[in-house]
Amino acid sequence: MDVILFGPPGAGKGTQAKLLVETLAIPQISTGDMMRAERASGSALGKKFDEYMNQGLLVPDDLVLELFAQRLRRPDAAEGAIFDGFPRTVPQAEALDAKLGELGRRVDRVIVLEVPLDLIIERVTGRRVCLSCGQTYHVRYSPPPPSGECSSCGANDVVQRADDTEEKVRTRDAGYHRETLPILAHYEPTGVVAKIDGVGTIEEITARVLGALQRS
Ligand SMILES: [Zn+2]
Repeated sequence: MDVILFGPPGAGKGTQAKLLVETLAIPQISTGDMMRAERASGSALGKKFDEYMNQGLLVPDDLVLELFAQRLRRPDAAEGAIFDGFPRTVPQAEALDAKLGELGRRVDRVIVLEVPLDLIIERVTGRRVCLSCGQTYHVRYSPPPPSGECSSCGANDVVQRADDTEEKVRTRDAGYHRETLPILAHYEPTGVVAKIDGVGTIEEITARVLGALQRS
């Protein structure tokens, strides 16, 4: 089963993707992670990514797709994959369809996690992170110790990240809607798009996602 997972930044996409990987036993394919790994490996393709990214330029679609095609051919992705962070544009969606088509596959489901913007703002602006160990807190739901010391590693490094402001959330959300809505319009005619209420506990949301995957 090939599944695209969409949701605005802060909607809990990463958490759900991990749970789906365990439940469906198919890998999560994240372009961000793959590009980082490729650059770290020093491969020819990784060096090309370096050239663009060191200049602050976007990596062209054909290079991202080459990486994608390589990843899809690995044995663990033979039964399907969960795509996260890709496709980002309609041409990328069309190219993904073509690559899957070469393997006799297609996008089976497009899952959209819907969370109201005010809730995302509350989640993100309340987030605090330990810079030493990565432990996350939320000022209201899981507050960091009043001493300021991380409960996980003891470092005095619990901060609010510069990206976790309301203004940044609104900017990212606007970008998401601008990029994503045309992709949903691309997939809607094939009947694969499922919009999921992304408000609730992690378990509740996972159950809704799995329910949508079982409907065919
Ligand atoms: Zn820590």
